Amino acid sequence: MTNIILFGPPGSGKGTQAAKLVEKYNLLHISTGDLFRYEIGNNTPLGLKAKSYIDNGNLVPDEVTIGMLKNKVDSNPDVKGYIFDGFPRTIPQAISLDEFLANKDLTINALIALDVDDEEIVNRILLRGKTSGRADDNDRSTIQNRIDVYNESTSQVYGHYNEKELSHTINGLGTIEEIFGRLCSLMDTKV
Ligand code: AMP
Repeated sequence: MTNIILFGPPGSGKGTQAAKLVEKYNLLHISTGDLFRYEIGNNTPLGLKAKSYIDNGNLVPDEVTIGMLKNKVDSNPDVKGYIFDGFPRTIPQAISLDEFLANKDLTINALIALDVDDEEIVNRILLRGKTSGRADDNDRSTIQNRIDVYNESTSQVYGHYNEKELSHTINGLGTIEEIFGRLCSLMDTKV
């Protein structure tokens, strides 16, 4: 199995690139943001719990997020590997993921971060907000909060996997195909 964490700030293109990686490498894409939006769309208890955090650009509590992620992995065991997108976002989430995978004799093979500057991120998210219908994509202060949360807490996850020499960074600027090309050459040489 090949298990990848696709990492980077909100709006860095993780979802777009994950969809392309799925096609090429036949992995299962698990986006915790997408899972939450699905739960919210279906008015489930989990969705109701998560909604206010998401609408304000804050992290949903770890126990809720980790439980949801584990369910998704457990219900899809027969795959070539997973692309984790938007997870882990905190050190406790990373530790839980490592332990959870180790219990299945699995491991994270690489964390790949898309490097995009803050100004570009805000522009991309506002553009996406015109069609995504996401409340958290349409308000500047919510977007800024999401960036702050990334810089203050989520970015530590990079260091967690860097200690294991698993973290890589690629330039997240350019066309979708250019960025995908960088990702593939990393996948084919280092992962
Ligand atoms: P995303 O689609 O990855 O940008 O996620 C949208 C929102 O869902 C985030 O701003 C958080 O509120 C919530 N979320 C997604 N993944 C996580 C996570 N791993 N931990 C906590 N909250 C999350």
